[in-house]
Amino acid sequence: MSCKGCSASVIVTDAEVEQLVKEQLALEVDLVDDRVYIERLSRCQECPSLAYTNTCGHCGCLVQFRAKLAYKTCPDPSGNRWLTITK
Ligand code: SF4
Repeated sequence: MSCKGCSASVIVTDAEVEQLVKEQLALEVDLVDDRVYIERLSRCQECPSLAYTNTCGHCGCLVQFRAKLAYKTCPDPSGNRWLTITK
């Protein structure tokens, strides 16, 4: 599968996403717990801006990565969809 903006391939399998997110999170220390993580991903799954089942249409992040980082917020310009999730 190609990206809408270029001809480069994009990650398509859950296993590839899982491996990439694992590598990206290896050096991160400010992470949310599993409850917050799952709730954030649930909001993403219901979001019309989610592309390819794993990419935020506003920031381009893999949501499985962004949702794990405590210091990140949902970048939806109409409002942070994670705002009501308590930590
Ligand atoms: S806008 Fe927010 S809720 Fe929607 S996909 Fe991006 S991070 Fe997830």
